[in-house]
Amino acid sequence: TAQVIDGKAVARQVREDVAKGVEQLVAGGGTAPGLATVLIGDDPASEVYVRNKRRSCVAAGMQDLHRHLPGDVGQAEAAALIDELAADPAVSGILLQLPTPAHLDSESLLARIPAEKDVDGLTTANAGLLAQGRSGLRPCTPSGVMALLDQYDVPLQGVEAVVVGRSVLVGKPMAQLLLERHATVTICHSRTRDLAEVCRRADVLVVAAGIPGLVGPDAVKPGATVIDVGIHRGEEGLHGDVDTAAVAEVAGLVTPVPGGVGPMTIAMLLANTLIAAKAQQGRSD
Ligand code: NAD
Repeated sequence: TAQVIDGKAVARQVREDVAKGVEQLVAGGGTAPGLATVLIGDDPASEVYVRNKRRSCVAAGMQDLHRHLPGDVGQAEAAALIDELAADPAVSGILLQLPTPAHLDSESLLARIPAEKDVDGLTTANAGLLAQGRSGLRPCTPSGVMALLDQYDVPLQGVEAVVVGRSVLVGKPMAQLLLERHATVTICHSRTRDLAEVCRRADVLVVAAGIPGLVGPDAVKPGATVIDVGIHRGEEGLHGDVDTAAVAEVAGLVTPVPGGVGPMTIAMLLANTLIAAKAQQGRSD
């Protein structure tokens, strides 16, 4: 059966490295990075995500510059807050927690975040840099997947990689990151004909479709690496887009849910915030 990737351990290592980086930055006369999480409204799931991000940021020695706006705030007021944070030198990174309330235009709010403070890597500027293979802040979840693949020495150059899902948040940047590492990349989506057949080509299969149990053992090549990005809250806890128990009989390496990709997302957010702070303080070491 497959080896199980320990996302918690890799995430812990990344967070420790970031904490050391923060210490070095401060010891060298710099200022501790500041992360401004922006929460609009009181969606309970978003509150939990933001609380975890804030806690991790403090644990890494960064400044928690959280801001909360009421759910009925107007577009202009929300935009003014982003502009204020954009101009504040204490703010290294701005994270607008999505989804925002339906009456707000989140795309135009995101567009106000300067690329160098876009620690979620979601602005069109950073997406463009990634598409062109240039350096910039990369989306946290796909970067976290890359960190897992590297930690487990999964070869990428020339291999067949299949990404299931083409979202702006996960699937598309995931495919671009794999391409950057010279994998042969195929992207599947909801209209792909014979998903299992395409997935069976994959040496590296990354699943981010948001459909519980979408990928079973019939879609996995023997010995493949299978990364499950999906998160679903069921009655017996969290599970992903992959039928992990059955797939582990075929695959060589799999991520569990929970404890796989999930913990990496916040770790990469911290890593991005440190990168952003160093760049803003003129320290690119
Ligand atoms: P999304 O809904 O924006 O995109 C889903 C993608 O999957 C779409 O491109 C769609 O075409 C494709 N898809 C849907 N049904 C399909 C099918 N039957 N066959 C093939 N492709 C299909 O979702 P997202 O934001 O990309 O997130 C995907 C999953 O990852 C969700 O479960 C989400 O909760 C999870 N997620 C986890 C993390 C994390 O930190 N681990 C971060 C972001 C998202």
